[in-house]
Amino acid sequence: MTQDHKKLYIKTWGCQMNVYDSNRMIDILAPFGYKTTETADDADMVILNTCHIREKATEKVFSDLGRIRAQKQIKKDAGGKMVVAVAGCVAQAEGEYIMDRAPYVDMVFGPQTYHELPEMMAKVLGAYGSERVVNTELTTDDKFDKLPEEAESQGVSAFLSVQEGCDKFCTFCVVPYTRGGEYSRPVQQIIDEAKRMVDGGTREINLLGQNVNAFHGLDTIGATWGLGRLIREMAEIDGLDRIRYTTSHPRDMDEDLIETHGSVEKLMPFLHLPVQSGSDRILKLMNRKHTADHYRDIIAKLRKARPDLALSSDFIVGFPGETEEDHQQTLKLVEDIGYTSCYSFKYSPRPGTPGANMGGLVHEDIKSRRLQELQALLNKQQIEFNEQTIGKTLPILLDRKGRHEGQMHGRSPFMQSVHVEANERLYGKIVDVKIDQALANSVSGQIVTADGTVMKKTAA
Ligand code: SAM
Ligand code: SF4
Repeated sequence: MTQDHKKLYIKTWGCQMNVYDSNRMIDILAPFGYKTTETADDADMVILNTCHIREKATEKVFSDLGRIRAQKQIKKDAGGKMVVAVAGCVAQAEGEYIMDRAPYVDMVFGPQTYHELPEMMAKVLGAYGSERVVNTELTTDDKFDKLPEEAESQGVSAFLSVQEGCDKFCTFCVVPYTRGGEYSRPVQQIIDEAKRMVDGGTREINLLGQNVNAFHGLDTIGATWGLGRLIREMAEIDGLDRIRYTTSHPRDMDEDLIETHGSVEKLMPFLHLPVQSGSDRILKLMNRKHTADHYRDIIAKLRKARPDLALSSDFIVGFPGETEEDHQQTLKLVEDIGYTSCYSFKYSPRPGTPGANMGGLVHEDIKSRRLQELQALLNKQQIEFNEQTIGKTLPILLDRKGRHEGQMHGRSPFMQSVHVEANERLYGKIVDVKIDQALANSVSGQIVTADGTVMKKTAA
């Protein structure tokens, strides 16, 4: 059988931003005949979309590249050509180094340049004479204008990037260096994209940004909108049932956004608001520009606006200088707030960030022990939250097939993973599910009718 399209293999590491970017790269390459494939074997193009946030990122990329090099050779021996590209934040940070160490890599490009993929491909594929390409510009200005319209369906629940980059310069973080300064997309561009997504079947949109609540997009008359106003406008879109946003910074949690949590029903009662540490001393060393009490106050206001709000956070343990007392303050903050799901990490020094040059390094064993203690507490809170939902009937958006036959996976308003006995034809529907079982990372239940009767498996 002859192949009528070119095979594109994309591997994506890291945050949702990278997932969004990978999807856009697929859209950009589609008009050139590329369709995604599940493996790098025999691919015509391989893109590794990388993350630089924690240690060993570069080594993981090189370990994948080692395998891809062999596959590229096999393809060449068979008379074909595989274009190998490294994209994302490792590419941004280590561009020239990757080109030097891996001569079989054809292109390295950073997160702000992927809209130039067609030009880069033309260079690599020889339209202007075959050459290797390094593209690590950091300007975002025209990137979104140049992206093609997305593929027809983005799925039932999809990400929409509204803001990129960061000006906060937390001392542990590479993002301001790999993604550049804060940039917000124009309001109309976002609304148009959201409407197209809804026309294609999307029912839940998760607004994305490295600091999404720092959003300050311009409308058509040049007025600046904050995230609260954008969410209220999005809520007017017919057919869009659920709105979420991630990831936020406590300093950008303004009154308008807090009130929006109380007034917009479509804004789901779940918020990921990273705090990193419960110690003011460590928060200062991290350059977070907020204190633990400032964070507690924000959460109190949010809960006043939306009493059932479920909360999530990121934590770093073992930042340079962190003492046992600081660690206890983090545990205390977790006790005070009560989270439903969190991410927690051991501090990993990132070259080029101020944290990497700080004294007071915390021993690995101590970091591991503190991480264990923190995670034990967070897991306990997560299970307790899941158990509290037993017996409740929640609206669940069914977003994919479940692991077992006759099962669908969905999300509760609180972002819980929910396993539901249901037929595949209910994909994309919001169904009432009575929760009857809680596990550490998910809950499960049965579809019920309006009067609370459990639906027979065959009917559901
Ligand atoms: N912008 C978000 C914020 O302000 O919280 C988070 C962005 S970052 C991509 C995601 C998470 O990775 C951070 O919240 C932090 O917990 C973690 N992280 C970043 N740099 C780290 C490092 N050097 N070591 C360990 N964890 C890190
Ligand atoms: Fe990194 Fe801090 Fe910016 Fe978040 S706010 S992306 S942690 S520098």
